[in-house]
Amino acid sequence: MKTRHFVIPALAFCAVAALASVSVPVIKWKTGDRSRPQPRKVTPGAPSTQHRVGTAPSDAVVLFNGKDLSSWEGKNGGAAPWKVADGYFEVAPGTGDIHTKQPFGDMQLHVEWASPNPPHGHDQEPGNSGIYLMSKFEIQVLESYYNKTYPDGQAAAIYCQYPPLVNACLPPGEWQTYDIVLHGPRFASDGSLTRLATVTVLHNGILVQDHVSPTGPTDYMKRPPYKAHPDKMPLLLQDHGQPVRYRNIWIRELGN
Ligand code: MG
Repeated sequence: MKTRHFVIPALAFCAVAALASVSVPVIKWKTGDRSRPQPRKVTPGAPSTQHRVGTAPSDAVVLFNGKDLSSWEGKNGGAAPWKVADGYFEVAPGTGDIHTKQPFGDMQLHVEWASPNPPHGHDQEPGNSGIYLMSKFEIQVLESYYNKTYPDGQAAAIYCQYPPLVNACLPPGEWQTYDIVLHGPRFASDGSLTRLATVTVLHNGILVQDHVSPTGPTDYMKRPPYKAHPDKMPLLLQDHGQPVRYRNIWIRELGN
């Protein structure tokens, strides 16, 4: 009997505590309220195919127009030294990373990439590049259709932190898409972290990162902690010594 008297109040307390920890949002508008502002109109872009480059939505910042790298600069500033060809650009191995002139924070990002065909090397070599959100969080680019490496280092991994949920890679040489939603971290004026970053990634239309929180910036075989930085930072593409190609890159800024 003693045990029963203890267990029931304890269970009741747990249930109340669990309920209390969930905060249901309050919507200030009534249901069906016609005075509520209408969502603004956006004209959707056209999806790409293997042989045709798609177009961006009407409210996106287009980061590559198919002709030049005027939205980008090299690692030490100045013109981005990568090769531009017909409708795409390509890493010029050894010239260093490139980054956008404009900084971005919370965003919807679309990127298309193709790893070299035939592939060169194995493990972390073939088709290695990377898309660094806010110059901090690398979404890995790698030939991962035939090539095996450590799971948190393959294509669509948040590098050295989270493997993709599934391997959605296409063969080398084929154009692949990443659609990424980032909510960046926030810091208080004393530098302390007040909001974790969250990242969602679709690879070739398949969900591979489901609203995960990086442990901090990505790094090679390390998990360094968050350190205060601005709410907007450049988007960076990695030169990892492989002539990876990119095309049709655009960003829709969120929360503006
Ligand atoms: Mg990489």
